Amino acid sequence: MISSTRQIASAAFGTTQRRWIASTSRSSRAMPFIPDHTSASPSSLSMKSEPMRLLMLAKPGSGKGTLSGRLTSKYNVQFVSTGDMLREEIKAGTEVGKQAEGIVAGGGLVPDELMIKLLGTSLESSSMKGKSWILDGFPRTLVQGERLDRYLGSTGQPLGLIVHLDVPDEIIMGRISDRWIHPSSGRIYNNSYNRPKVEGLDDVTGEPLVRRADDNPEIFARRLKSFYAQTAPLLEYYRSTAPSNLVTLSGKTSDEIWPQLESLVRSRFGSLKSKSETKRVVPEAVIRRAEREISRDHRDFISSMVPIIPAAY
Ligand code: ADP
Repeated sequence: MISSTRQIASAAFGTTQRRWIASTSRSSRAMPFIPDHTSASPSSLSMKSEPMRLLMLAKPGSGKGTLSGRLTSKYNVQFVSTGDMLREEIKAGTEVGKQAEGIVAGGGLVPDELMIKLLGTSLESSSMKGKSWILDGFPRTLVQGERLDRYLGSTGQPLGLIVHLDVPDEIIMGRISDRWIHPSSGRIYNNSYNRPKVEGLDDVTGEPLVRRADDNPEIFARRLKSFYAQTAPLLEYYRSTAPSNLVTLSGKTSDEIWPQLESLVRSRFGSLKSKSETKRVVPEAVIRRAEREISRDHRDFISSMVPIIPAAY
């Protein structure tokens, strides 16, 4: 039995936040999240005051997880990764996990209907509705993209931004051969440019790092092929349905792309607040109550001291 709300740490570095949220992952609980009668209505408007609903669309290994981790460490944003969800399902040995295991291991794509059900429960959870979120790994096919648009359109919360990360294939291939992950948090390391402080161990927890089973050159080549055959057509889809929402960011490393991504989301979503900014916003009433409590405590302290203060003082 697995819990209905599972969370996986989001940050690729520095924090122990949870990575995907409120995903009711038992297949028996999964609900179709796209009513058939709704019609597609992807918005092409910039939604500055809206929560950030961001899709990361990129080749495998191009840094989606790392960059999403940076956003979730710094901003109040939920993160959903269908790859992480599937790995959890597989680890937990659920029905979905059993169906997906061989496909994921072989570098293929899990059938659309299964993915739609799996993701549906996350998107319908209260921790996602009305919040800022990043979706990584979904959609991966045109069918998934259309269903997602229809569903989000029907809830009046369409995608606000589609970020396409453009990283050269040869760079990605080099990275993958040296990629290590911390399974429970999703933190990603690379022995060439993002080494853990202690080799083989996660910087935050000290737990062992592992290699993803599908991160070997042969399987990776298949994943790349799936991207070109099935996912790349989504770029054309978004180009025609929501041209102003599709933005391509290019670079060789996540460090190169990060400043572009951060300034893009900040300029696009005025409502996006960094965690430190959020902390500073304390309601007036709370401040006044705290002041009252402090002065009461102060009075109590002084009166408790009076009997023991020598008369001369
Ligand atoms: P990457 O982007 O590096 O390929 P992910 O962690 O996103 O890795 O996904 C791992 C695997 O999970 C994919 O290779 C695929 O088999 C499966 N998968 C994830 N998301 C989907 C999806 N939306 N549709 C079909 N299969 C998926």
